[in-house]
Amino acid sequence: MKWHKKLHNQIILGLVLGLVYGVVSASFGWGQFTSNWIAPFGAIFLRALFLIAVPLVLASIITGVASLSDTHKLSRIGGKTIGIYIATTVVALIIGLAIVNLMRPGDAVPAEVQEQLTAEYSAMAEERAEFATDAMGERGPLQAIVDMVPNNIFGSASSNRNMLQVVFVAILFGIALLMLPAERAQPLLSFFESLNDMVIKIVEIIMKVAPIGVFALLADTFTQVSQDNLGGLWQLMEALGFYMVAVLLGLVLHVSITYTTILKFLTPMTLKRFFLGIAPAQLVAFSTSSSGATLPVTMEVAEKNLGVSEEVSSFVLPLGATINMDGTALYQAVAAVFIAQTLGIALGLGAQLEIILLAVLASIGTAAVPSAGIIMLVIILQSVGVPAAGIALILGVDRILDMCRTVCNITGDATVATLVASSENQLDVAPQHTT
Ligand code: ASP
Repeated sequence: MKWHKKLHNQIILGLVLGLVYGVVSASFGWGQFTSNWIAPFGAIFLRALFLIAVPLVLASIITGVASLSDTHKLSRIGGKTIGIYIATTVVALIIGLAIVNLMRPGDAVPAEVQEQLTAEYSAMAEERAEFATDAMGERGPLQAIVDMVPNNIFGSASSNRNMLQVVFVAILFGIALLMLPAERAQPLLSFFESLNDMVIKIVEIIMKVAPIGVFALLADTFTQVSQDNLGGLWQLMEALGFYMVAVLLGLVLHVSITYTTILKFLTPMTLKRFFLGIAPAQLVAFSTSSSGATLPVTMEVAEKNLGVSEEVSSFVLPLGATINMDGTALYQAVAAVFIAQTLGIALGLGAQLEIILLAVLASIGTAAVPSAGIIMLVIILQSVGVPAAGIALILGVDRILDMCRTVCNITGDATVATLVASSENQLDVAPQHTT
């Protein structure tokens, strides 16, 4: 426990120093030095997390599924998990839409700032819009389901954007092993159990260097964000302040109302233990902006600090990292309406209901990597008749909001894992022996 606390504090220190360094380095023009000598340590940390995400998901789901007594349990846990994930995303969207309609941040953007932002970010916005159209252009209504089934295991394992395919393969392998006679299944099962144990050890090793990784990632991100923006980050923040407040307020309300209500009334988990327990994962999510990269840490803290059984965490969390993105959905709702408000386009109730539907689907399809949310936002904007070029207005502050929405995304995953574990009697509420 002592060591654990020390690690928490070190990661927080890394985070704070990274933020401060980023701002100072941008003001003194240390960009080149930072990208040559500091950013690589962040990149190594991020790569290491991604490196173990695929083997971890494969090994933990296969062993989890194969250890079930029958497949009914799998469909029960699966159905419950997906249902709760969708419900929390809808609540997040309603909160986002309520805030953006009440605050109307789009009305606060002066015309000259709008012109300036459009001019500055239009090339970048076009690039993202093109990417989104290429990715989504020719898709039929069932393409998302088709995409879940890989035609090549190594192909899906080679990209962190295909985590849902890895989840699919792992469940299939697990079910097949479950159906084999025990002695035939045993060698492979022992292999995956051993792989699982090894990967968990690697997570522990990576967490030891997390403070340095977090520092380097934040130092580099903040140097870049501050340098890239016209007139500096602070002016930009001033211009888009209301929009940022709307997104952040939404995220805070969703975490502090929706998740705490679930935890307080539907599980025996105390809020203190929950939030202290998942703090390391939240810090990693904030610095990596990727729920996929954070997944190994989320699983580790859910099991060790929250007492969620491995059976539940190994299934619910990888699924959550890929299909449950409450923070992203909330941000998409706020951003879509904000852009419409700024451009003077009125979005009626119908259009806003359409945003809810599209954002739920988008959050399922959004890859758990940095900036994936804004690509899906393009699709939402196009569907409700707002020019996709409007994302130019928000691109400058997107990275910062990405960090925050990713924290909300993984907090949602951990909340649902706790709820599912509690409903399955698989939540160990005894005081934890943390790593
Ligand atoms: N970065 C987010 C995540 O990985 C996705 C997004 O909103 O861009 O959870």
